[in-house]
Amino acid sequence: MSLDEIKTRIAEAEQAAGRAPGSVKLIAVSKVQPLERVEAVLEQGQRVFGENRVQEAAGKWPDFKDRFPGVELHLIGPLQSNKARQAIGLFDAIHSVDRPKLAKALARLAQEEGHCPELFIQVNTGEEPQKAGVLPEDTDALVADCRALDLPLRGLMCIPPVGEEPSLHFALLAKLAARNGLEGLSMGMSGDFETAIAQGATHVRVGSAIFGERSDAVSA
Ligand SMILES: *Cc1c(COP(=O)(O)O)cnc(C)c1O
Repeated sequence: MSLDEIKTRIAEAEQAAGRAPGSVKLIAVSKVQPLERVEAVLEQGQRVFGENRVQEAAGKWPDFKDRFPGVELHLIGPLQSNKARQAIGLFDAIHSVDRPKLAKALARLAQEEGHCPELFIQVNTGEEPQKAGVLPEDTDALVADCRALDLPLRGLMCIPPVGEEPSLHFALLAKLAARNGLEGLSMGMSGDFETAIAQGATHVRVGSAIFGERSDAVSA
C-alpha cells in the first residue's frame, strides 16, 4: 500500500470519528526496512518516523536527517537506561517510558543535555508477562512520578496482545489517559489504526502497510 493511501485512510477515519482533519499524526515505522525503501518514503514527503532500537536508528538517521530537513524521530521500542543519553540525542519523542528508574534517568540526563524528547508511558494493557510496559494499575503512579520530575509527558502508548480485540485495549488506554488529564494516545498499527483513530488515537504507528512486510519479521 502506498503512503498516500494510508494518509487517505487516516483522513477518512478522522472524518468518520468526527475528529479534526490532521489531528492524528502518522509515524512511519521504518525499523528493519531497507534504506532505499525508507528513502523513497522520505522522497514522498513523509518526515515522521518510528524506530524500535536505539542502535539501529543511530546507524541510519543522522545521515537521513542531514539530507532531509525536518525529520522527526520517535522511539517506539523498549529503552534501557544505559542508552537513555543516546536516545535523548537522537529522538524527538520516546513512547516507551515504563518504570520510575527510567523516568529518573531521563530527567537527570535531560537536565544535563538541556532538552528532553516528548514522552509517552507505555502501558501493558494485556498484562502480558513478556511485554514491556507498566501495568494498568501502576499507571497513575508512574504518571505522577513523571510529573514530579517535570518531564514533558504527552500521553500513553500501548501494543495490544496478538489475537485479541484491539478496541478493548484502546478503550482502556483512553480511559487511563483521560483520568490522568493526558491528551496523547499512541495506539494503532497497520492492522488496526482506523479502530484506534475511532477511539481517540493522536499518534498511529504504521510500518508494514507503508513499507511492505519486514523481511525478518522482527516485531516489538
Ligand atoms: C513494529 C511496530 C509497529 C508497526 O507495526 P506494523 O504492524 O508493521 O504496522 C508499531 N508499533 C511498535 C511498537 C512496533 O514495534
